[in-house]
Amino acid sequence: MSDNLTPEQRRVAMRRVKSKNTSPEIAIRRLLHQMGIAGYRLHRRDVPGSPDIAWLSKKAAIFIHGCFWHAHDCPRGSRKPKTNRHYWQTKLARNIQRDSKQRAELKKKGWDILTIWECELKDESRLARRLNRFFARPQ
Ligand SMILES: [Zn+2]
Repeated sequence: MSDNLTPEQRRVAMRRVKSKNTSPEIAIRRLLHQMGIAGYRLHRRDVPGSPDIAWLSKKAAIFIHGCFWHAHDCPRGSRKPKTNRHYWQTKLARNIQRDSKQRAELKKKGWDILTIWECELKDESRLARRLNRFFARPQ
């Protein structure tokens, strides 16, 4: 790295990054950086579903899904609110429907898609392997 920081400055900067940027998206971007993968765009509205991370020329997209909001089949995703049951059921069903519609649209246009669930961030080495497999896929 040639960021011209002293070790102490870098340590302070890293600490700041760690405490501040804790969202799943930042975590994935940090992982990509560690893997030396760059050249992506964020939330492009001209790509169906505006993926969280997208490589336009490679037609590769990563969606980072919150387990609750996208009804993941995991403990967090299966937890259902106890009040306003109907409201949540309808809302989550609509999210799932929208996800699959966007996915189908992207696939039709020749895109490769990787969906990363929030809960997968607990195991970063496993996640790194998934990312590696995705980038090593035949084009
Ligand atoms: Zn999950």
